[in-house]
Amino acid sequence: MTPSSSRFRGLRTVTFHVPDLSRAREWYAGTLGVTPYFDEPFYVGFDIGGYELGLVPNADLSTGAGLRDAGGVTAYWGVDDVKAELARLVEHGAILHEEPTDVGGGIRVAAVRDPFGNVLGIIENPGFRGIDPAIPAEVDRYVAQRFGPREEGRGAGVDEAVAAAEEAIRAAGMPEISISTTEGHFLHLLARLVGARRILEIGTLGGVAALWMARALPPAPEGQLVSLEVDPEHAAVARRNLARGGVGDRVEVRVGLALDLLPGVAEEVRQGERPPFDMVFIDADKEPYAEYLDLAIQVTRAGGLIVADNVVWGGRILDEGTTDPSVLGIRRFNEALARDPRVVNAAIQTVGARGHDGMALALVLPREAG
Ligand code: SAH
Ligand code: MG
Repeated sequence: MTPSSSRFRGLRTVTFHVPDLSRAREWYAGTLGVTPYFDEPFYVGFDIGGYELGLVPNADLSTGAGLRDAGGVTAYWGVDDVKAELARLVEHGAILHEEPTDVGGGIRVAAVRDPFGNVLGIIENPGFRGIDPAIPAEVDRYVAQRFGPREEGRGAGVDEAVAAAEEAIRAAGMPEISISTTEGHFLHLLARLVGARRILEIGTLGGVAALWMARALPPAPEGQLVSLEVDPEHAAVARRNLARGGVGDRVEVRVGLALDLLPGVAEEVRQGERPPFDMVFIDADKEPYAEYLDLAIQVTRAGGLIVADNVVWGGRILDEGTTDPSVLGIRRFNEALARDPRVVNAAIQTVGARGHDGMALALVLPREAG
Protein backbone atom coordinates (compact mmCIF):
# COMPACT_ATOMS: atom_id res chain seq x y z
CA MET A 1 0.00 0.00 0.00
CA THR A 2 1.42 3.39 -0.90
CA PRO A 3 1.32 6.08 1.75
CA SER A 4 -0.32 8.53 -0.62
CA SER A 5 -2.54 8.11 -3.64
CA SER A 6 -0.40 10.60 -5.58
CA ARG A 7 3.09 9.92 -6.84
CA PHE A 8 4.07 13.37 -5.64
CA ARG A 9 4.56 13.34 -1.89
CA GLY A 10 4.04 17.03 -1.30
CA LEU A 11 6.25 20.06 -1.82
CA ARG A 12 9.73 19.61 -0.41
CA THR A 13 11.97 22.32 -1.74
CA VAL A 14 11.85 25.73 -3.38
CA THR A 15 15.07 27.03 -4.92
CA PHE A 16 15.96 30.64 -5.65
CA HIS A 17 18.72 31.67 -8.00
CA VAL A 18 21.19 34.20 -6.66
CA PRO A 19 24.16 36.03 -8.20
CA ASP A 20 26.22 35.98 -5.00
CA LEU A 21 25.73 32.84 -2.94
CA SER A 22 27.55 33.95 0.20
CA ARG A 23 25.69 37.25 0.33
CA ALA A 24 22.36 35.49 -0.17
CA ARG A 25 23.33 32.89 2.41
CA GLU A 26 24.02 35.61 4.99
CA TRP A 27 20.86 37.49 4.11
CA TYR A 28 18.56 34.47 4.48
CA ALA A 29 20.35 33.11 7.55
CA GLY A 30 20.02 36.50 9.24
CA THR A 31 16.48 37.18 8.09
CA LEU A 32 15.11 33.73 8.94
CA GLY A 33 17.31 33.17 11.98
CA VAL A 34 18.41 29.70 10.89
CA THR A 35 21.72 28.19 9.81
CA PRO A 36 21.79 26.12 6.63
CA TYR A 37 21.57 22.35 7.04
CA PHE A 38 23.22 21.95 3.61
CA ASP A 39 26.07 24.38 3.03
CA GLU A 40 28.25 23.95 -0.06
CA PRO A 41 29.74 26.31 -2.65
CA PHE A 42 27.23 24.98 -5.20
CA TYR A 43 24.11 25.03 -3.02
CA VAL A 44 22.82 26.28 0.32
CA GLY A 45 19.74 24.68 1.86
CA PHE A 46 17.69 25.81 4.88
CA ASP A 47 15.20 23.57 6.73
CA ILE A 48 12.15 25.77 7.19
CA GLY A 49 9.59 23.90 9.28
CA GLY A 50 10.26 20.64 7.44
CA TYR A 51 10.49 22.26 3.99
CA GLU A 52 13.57 23.40 2.18
CA LEU A 53 14.53 26.79 0.89
CA GLY A 54 17.51 26.37 -1.43
CA LEU A 55 19.89 28.94 -2.90
CA VAL A 56 21.49 28.22 -6.28
CA PRO A 57 24.46 30.41 -7.28
CA ASN A 58 25.55 32.01 -10.51
CA ALA A 59 22.37 33.45 -11.86
CA ASP A 60 21.64 37.14 -12.02
CA LEU A 61 17.94 37.87 -12.24
CA SER A 62 18.57 41.47 -13.21
CA THR A 63 20.41 40.49 -16.40
CA GLY A 64 19.18 36.92 -16.84
CA ALA A 65 22.77 35.74 -17.05
CA GLY A 66 23.12 32.09 -16.13
CA LEU A 67 19.43 31.87 -15.45
CA ARG A 68 17.94 28.46 -16.11
CA ASP A 69 14.38 28.78 -14.87
CA ALA A 70 11.61 31.23 -15.45
CA GLY A 71 11.57 33.67 -12.55
CA GLY A 72 14.57 31.97 -11.02
CA VAL A 73 12.32 29.85 -8.83
CA THR A 74 11.89 26.10 -8.96
CA ALA A 75 9.56 24.17 -6.71
CA TYR A 76 10.59 20.55 -6.11
CA TRP A 77 7.98 17.92 -5.29
CA GLY A 78 9.01 14.99 -3.14
CA VAL A 79 9.05 11.61 -4.91
CA ASP A 80 10.18 8.11 -3.89
CA ASP A 81 12.41 7.54 -6.93
CA VAL A 82 13.62 10.44 -9.06
CA LYS A 83 14.68 8.34 -12.08
CA ALA A 84 11.43 6.37 -12.25
CA GLU A 85 9.32 9.49 -11.79
CA LEU A 86 11.32 11.39 -14.41
CA ALA A 87 10.79 8.58 -16.93
CA ARG A 88 7.07 8.63 -16.19
CA LEU A 89 6.82 12.40 -16.65
CA VAL A 90 8.74 12.27 -19.94
CA GLU A 91 6.46 9.46 -21.10
CA HIS A 92 3.56 11.83 -20.47
CA GLY A 93 5.12 14.48 -22.71
CA ALA A 94 7.23 16.49 -20.29
CA ILE A 95 10.62 17.69 -21.58
CA LEU A 96 13.82 17.04 -19.69
CA HIS A 97 15.03 20.27 -18.13
CA GLU A 98 17.55 19.19 -15.51
CA GLU A 99 19.28 15.79 -15.68
CA PRO A 100 18.86 13.64 -12.57
CA THR A 101 21.65 14.70 -10.28
CA ASP A 102 22.92 13.05 -7.12
CA VAL A 103 23.82 15.97 -4.89
CA GLY A 104 25.04 13.82 -1.99
CA GLY A 105 23.46 12.66 1.25
CA GLY A 106 21.08 10.41 -0.65
CA ILE A 107 19.46 13.45 -2.23
CA ARG A 108 18.61 13.28 -5.94
CA VAL A 109 16.98 15.99 -8.00
CA ALA A 110 15.73 16.43 -11.56
CA ALA A 111 13.39 18.78 -13.39
CA VAL A 112 11.21 18.79 -16.47
CA ARG A 113 9.22 21.36 -18.38
CA ASP A 114 5.54 20.60 -18.65
CA PRO A 115 3.86 20.96 -22.10
CA PHE A 116 3.11 24.57 -21.20
CA GLY A 117 6.68 25.56 -20.39
CA ASN A 118 6.51 25.46 -16.60
CA VAL A 119 9.45 24.03 -14.71
CA LEU A 120 8.51 21.12 -12.50
CA GLY A 121 11.18 19.91 -10.07
CA ILE A 122 11.25 16.53 -8.37
CA ILE A 123 13.39 15.54 -5.40
CA GLU A 124 14.23 12.41 -3.48
CA ASN A 125 15.37 13.48 -0.03
CA PRO A 126 15.50 10.92 2.80
CA GLY A 127 15.67 13.78 5.31
CA PHE A 128 12.21 15.00 4.31
CA ARG A 129 10.29 11.75 4.30
CA GLY A 130 8.18 12.15 7.39
CA ILE A 131 6.13 15.11 6.31
CA ASP A 132 3.59 13.33 4.12
CA PRO A 133 0.38 13.90 6.08
CA ALA A 134 -1.07 10.68 4.64
CA ILE A 135 1.47 8.54 6.48
CA PRO A 136 0.14 8.83 10.07
CA ALA A 137 -3.36 7.83 8.97
CA GLU A 138 -1.92 4.90 7.01
CA VAL A 139 0.13 3.82 10.01
CA ASP A 140 -3.03 4.04 12.14
CA ARG A 141 -4.69 1.52 9.84
CA TYR A 142 -1.62 -0.73 9.98
CA VAL A 143 -1.61 -0.63 13.78
CA ALA A 144 -5.38 -0.99 14.11
CA GLN A 145 -5.36 -4.15 11.98
CA ARG A 146 -2.72 -5.81 14.13
CA PHE A 147 -3.14 -4.68 17.73
CA GLY A 148 -5.89 -4.49 20.30
CA PRO A 149 -7.83 -6.96 22.42
CA ARG A 150 -8.31 -10.22 20.54
CA GLU A 151 -9.09 -12.84 23.16
CA GLU A 152 -12.44 -14.59 23.50
CA GLY A 153 -14.82 -13.18 26.03
CA ARG A 154 -14.38 -9.53 26.86
CA GLY A 155 -12.64 -8.63 23.59
CA ALA A 156 -14.44 -10.90 21.13
CA GLY A 157 -16.32 -9.13 18.36
CA VAL A 158 -15.22 -5.69 19.48
CA ASP A 159 -14.01 -4.66 16.02
CA GLU A 160 -17.41 -5.45 14.52
CA ALA A 161 -19.21 -3.63 17.34
CA VAL A 162 -17.05 -0.53 16.90
CA ALA A 163 -17.48 -0.58 13.11
CA ALA A 164 -21.26 -0.83 13.55
CA ALA A 165 -21.19 2.04 16.05
CA GLU A 166 -19.16 4.24 13.70
CA GLU A 167 -21.58 3.43 10.88
CA ALA A 168 -24.55 4.37 13.08
CA ILE A 169 -22.83 7.67 13.95
CA ARG A 170 -22.34 8.45 10.23
CA ALA A 171 -25.92 7.44 9.40
CA ALA A 172 -27.28 9.71 12.14
CA GLY A 173 -25.23 12.63 10.81
CA MET A 174 -23.43 13.01 14.13
CA PRO A 175 -19.92 14.49 14.20
CA GLU A 176 -17.26 11.90 13.37
CA ILE A 177 -15.01 12.76 16.29
CA SER A 178 -15.01 9.48 18.19
CA ILE A 179 -11.64 8.27 19.33
CA SER A 180 -9.75 6.28 16.69
CA THR A 181 -9.39 2.52 16.87
CA THR A 182 -5.77 2.74 18.01
CA GLU A 183 -6.84 5.15 20.75
CA GLY A 184 -9.59 2.68 21.65
CA HIS A 185 -6.96 -0.03 22.09
CA PHE A 186 -4.99 2.37 24.26
CA LEU A 187 -7.94 3.24 26.52
CA HIS A 188 -8.92 -0.42 26.78
CA LEU A 189 -5.41 -1.30 27.89
CA LEU A 190 -5.29 1.56 30.39
CA ALA A 191 -8.59 0.42 31.89
CA ARG A 192 -7.19 -3.06 32.36
CA LEU A 193 -3.91 -1.70 33.74
CA VAL A 194 -5.75 0.05 36.58
CA GLY A 195 -7.96 -3.02 37.07
CA ALA A 196 -10.98 -0.84 36.36
CA ARG A 197 -14.38 -1.90 37.55
CA ARG A 198 -15.99 1.55 37.55
CA ILE A 199 -15.37 4.08 34.81
CA LEU A 200 -16.77 7.57 34.30
CA GLU A 201 -16.86 9.18 30.86
CA ILE A 202 -17.63 12.84 30.16
CA GLY A 203 -18.89 13.16 26.56
CA THR A 204 -20.46 9.97 25.14
CA LEU A 205 -21.22 10.83 21.49
CA GLY A 206 -22.05 7.46 19.88
CA GLY A 207 -20.41 5.32 22.55
CA VAL A 208 -17.26 4.32 20.67
CA ALA A 209 -14.86 5.15 23.51
CA ALA A 210 -17.39 3.75 26.01
CA LEU A 211 -17.42 0.50 24.06
CA TRP A 212 -13.65 0.14 24.14
CA MET A 213 -13.52 0.90 27.86
CA ALA A 214 -16.61 -1.12 28.87
CA ARG A 215 -15.09 -4.14 27.13
CA ALA A 216 -12.34 -3.98 29.74
CA LEU A 217 -14.87 -4.24 32.58
CA PRO A 218 -16.34 -7.33 34.19
CA PRO A 219 -20.11 -7.76 33.63
CA ALA A 220 -22.64 -5.85 35.73
CA PRO A 221 -23.17 -5.29 38.55
CA GLU A 222 -19.44 -5.34 39.29
CA GLY A 223 -18.48 -3.54 36.10
CA GLN A 224 -20.07 -0.12 35.66
CA LEU A 225 -19.48 2.69 33.21
CA VAL A 226 -21.35 5.97 33.67
CA SER A 227 -21.21 8.26 30.65
CA LEU A 228 -22.49 11.85 30.59
CA GLU A 229 -23.94 13.33 27.40
CA VAL A 230 -25.82 16.57 26.83
CA ASP A 231 -27.45 15.60 23.52
CA PRO A 232 -30.35 13.15 23.95
CA GLU A 233 -30.02 11.95 20.34
CA HIS A 234 -26.34 11.16 20.84
CA ALA A 235 -27.28 9.32 24.03
CA ALA A 236 -29.93 7.28 22.20
CA VAL A 237 -27.52 6.26 19.43
CA ALA A 238 -24.88 5.42 22.05
CA ARG A 239 -27.26 3.23 24.06
CA ARG A 240 -28.14 1.25 20.93
CA ASN A 241 -24.47 0.90 19.97
CA LEU A 242 -23.49 -0.22 23.46
CA ALA A 243 -26.34 -2.76 23.67
CA ARG A 244 -25.33 -4.15 20.28
CA GLY A 245 -21.73 -4.25 21.48
CA GLY A 246 -22.70 -6.53 24.34
CA VAL A 247 -22.03 -4.06 27.18
CA GLY A 248 -25.52 -2.60 27.63
CA ASP A 249 -25.67 -4.24 31.06
CA ARG A 250 -22.73 -2.26 32.47
CA VAL A 251 -23.17 1.13 30.82
CA GLU A 252 -25.44 3.93 31.97
CA VAL A 253 -25.71 7.04 29.75
CA ARG A 254 -26.96 10.06 31.70
CA VAL A 255 -28.34 12.98 29.72
CA GLY A 256 -27.56 16.54 30.75
CA LEU A 257 -24.82 19.13 30.95
CA ALA A 258 -21.80 17.49 32.51
CA LEU A 259 -21.33 20.38 34.95
CA ASP A 260 -24.92 19.84 36.13
CA LEU A 261 -24.58 16.06 36.41
CA LEU A 262 -21.12 15.80 37.96
CA PRO A 263 -22.05 17.19 41.41
CA GLY A 264 -24.71 14.48 41.65
CA VAL A 265 -22.17 11.80 40.75
CA ALA A 266 -19.73 13.25 43.28
CA GLU A 267 -22.45 13.24 45.94
CA GLU A 268 -23.21 9.55 45.25
CA VAL A 269 -19.53 8.79 45.83
CA ARG A 270 -19.35 10.96 48.96
CA GLN A 271 -22.46 9.31 50.43
CA GLY A 272 -21.01 5.88 49.71
CA GLU A 273 -23.88 5.10 47.35
CA ARG A 274 -21.31 4.14 44.77
CA PRO A 275 -17.62 3.33 45.08
CA PRO A 276 -15.17 5.89 43.67
CA PHE A 277 -14.20 5.48 40.03
CA ASP A 278 -11.07 3.67 38.89
CA MET A 279 -10.83 5.63 35.66
CA VAL A 280 -12.31 8.81 34.15
CA PHE A 281 -12.22 9.75 30.46
CA ILE A 282 -12.74 13.48 29.81
CA ASP A 283 -13.83 14.13 26.22
CA ALA A 284 -16.72 16.66 26.13
CA ASP A 285 -16.72 20.43 25.44
CA LYS A 286 -13.32 21.98 26.04
CA GLU A 287 -14.11 25.23 27.89
CA PRO A 288 -14.83 23.59 31.27
CA TYR A 289 -12.04 20.98 31.00
CA ALA A 290 -10.32 22.38 34.10
CA GLU A 291 -13.54 22.04 36.13
CA TYR A 292 -14.02 18.51 34.78
CA LEU A 293 -10.51 17.68 35.97
CA ASP A 294 -11.18 18.95 39.49
CA LEU A 295 -14.44 17.00 39.76
CA ALA A 296 -12.84 13.91 38.21
CA ILE A 297 -10.09 13.93 40.84
CA GLN A 298 -12.74 14.16 43.58
CA VAL A 299 -14.54 11.02 42.40
CA THR A 300 -11.50 8.86 41.57
CA ARG A 301 -9.85 6.47 44.01
CA ALA A 302 -6.17 6.76 44.88
CA GLY A 303 -4.29 4.88 42.19
CA GLY A 304 -7.07 5.59 39.70
CA LEU A 305 -6.44 7.18 36.33
CA ILE A 306 -7.87 10.24 34.59
CA VAL A 307 -7.43 10.54 30.84
CA ALA A 308 -8.25 13.74 28.94
CA ASP A 309 -8.57 13.76 25.16
CA ASN A 310 -7.68 16.53 22.70
CA VAL A 311 -5.14 18.40 24.82
CA VAL A 312 -2.97 19.37 21.82
CA TRP A 313 -5.69 20.38 19.36
CA GLY A 314 -3.54 20.37 16.23
CA GLY A 315 -0.83 22.31 18.04
CA ARG A 316 -3.13 25.31 18.48
CA ILE A 317 -2.45 25.27 22.24
CA LEU A 318 0.74 27.15 21.32
CA ASP A 319 -1.10 30.03 19.61
CA GLU A 320 -0.27 32.96 21.88
CA GLY A 321 -2.91 35.40 20.74
CA THR A 322 -5.77 32.97 20.29
CA THR A 323 -9.29 33.85 21.42
CA ASP A 324 -10.72 30.42 20.51
CA PRO A 325 -12.62 29.37 23.66
CA SER A 326 -11.82 25.68 23.10
CA VAL A 327 -8.09 26.36 22.82
CA LEU A 328 -8.22 28.60 25.88
CA GLY A 329 -10.16 25.91 27.76
CA ILE A 330 -7.60 23.25 26.92
CA ARG A 331 -4.76 25.55 27.88
CA ARG A 332 -6.42 26.33 31.22
CA PHE A 333 -6.86 22.58 31.76
CA ASN A 334 -3.22 21.90 30.94
CA GLU A 335 -2.06 24.58 33.39
CA ALA A 336 -4.40 23.28 36.11
CA LEU A 337 -3.20 19.71 35.60
CA ALA A 338 0.43 20.82 35.59
CA ARG A 339 0.22 22.31 39.08
CA ASP A 340 -2.31 19.95 40.72
CA PRO A 341 -0.59 18.29 43.70
CA ARG A 342 -3.22 15.52 43.89
CA VAL A 343 -1.99 13.76 40.75
CA VAL A 344 1.07 12.61 38.84
CA ASN A 345 0.72 13.83 35.28
CA ALA A 346 1.97 13.04 31.80
CA ALA A 347 0.87 13.96 28.30
CA ILE A 348 1.63 12.60 24.86
CA GLN A 349 0.93 14.11 21.48
CA THR A 350 -0.46 11.81 18.86
CA VAL A 351 -0.85 11.67 15.09
CA GLY A 352 -3.01 9.30 13.12
CA ALA A 353 -6.50 8.92 11.75
CA ARG A 354 -7.62 11.91 13.84
CA GLY A 355 -4.79 14.22 12.80
CA HIS A 356 -2.46 15.83 15.31
CA ASP A 357 -3.65 15.84 18.91
CA GLY A 358 -2.77 14.46 22.32
CA MET A 359 -3.94 12.91 25.55
CA ALA A 360 -3.12 13.88 29.12
CA LEU A 361 -2.96 11.34 31.92
CA ALA A 362 -3.33 11.93 35.65
CA LEU A 363 -2.68 9.26 38.27
CA VAL A 364 -4.51 10.10 41.50
CA LEU A 365 -2.23 10.04 44.55
CA PRO A 366 -3.27 8.81 48.01
CA ARG A 367 -4.98 11.62 49.93
CA GLU A 368 -2.78 13.28 52.55
CA ALA A 369 -3.87 12.33 56.06
CA GLY A 370 -5.67 15.15 57.91
N1 SAH B 1 -15.94 10.15 23.92
C1 SAH B 1 -16.59 10.00 22.61
C2 SAH B 1 -16.56 11.29 21.82
C3 SAH B 1 -17.17 12.45 22.53
S1 SAH B 1 -17.44 13.81 21.45
C4 SAH B 1 -15.86 8.94 21.83
O1 SAH B 1 -14.64 9.06 21.66
O2 SAH B 1 -16.49 7.98 21.37
C5 SAH B 1 -18.02 15.00 22.61
C6 SAH B 1 -19.44 14.73 23.11
O3 SAH B 1 -19.62 15.58 24.23
C7 SAH B 1 -20.52 15.09 22.11
O4 SAH B 1 -21.42 14.02 21.96
C8 SAH B 1 -21.23 16.28 22.73
O5 SAH B 1 -22.63 16.31 22.51
C9 SAH B 1 -20.94 16.09 24.21
N2 SAH B 1 -20.95 17.32 25.00
C10 SAH B 1 -20.56 18.55 24.60
N3 SAH B 1 -20.69 19.43 25.60
C11 SAH B 1 -21.17 18.74 26.66
C12 SAH B 1 -21.52 19.10 27.99
N4 SAH B 1 -21.37 20.34 28.44
N5 SAH B 1 -21.99 18.13 28.81
C13 SAH B 1 -22.12 16.85 28.37
N6 SAH B 1 -21.81 16.46 27.12
C14 SAH B 1 -21.34 17.40 26.27
MG1 MG C 1 -12.11 13.66 21.69
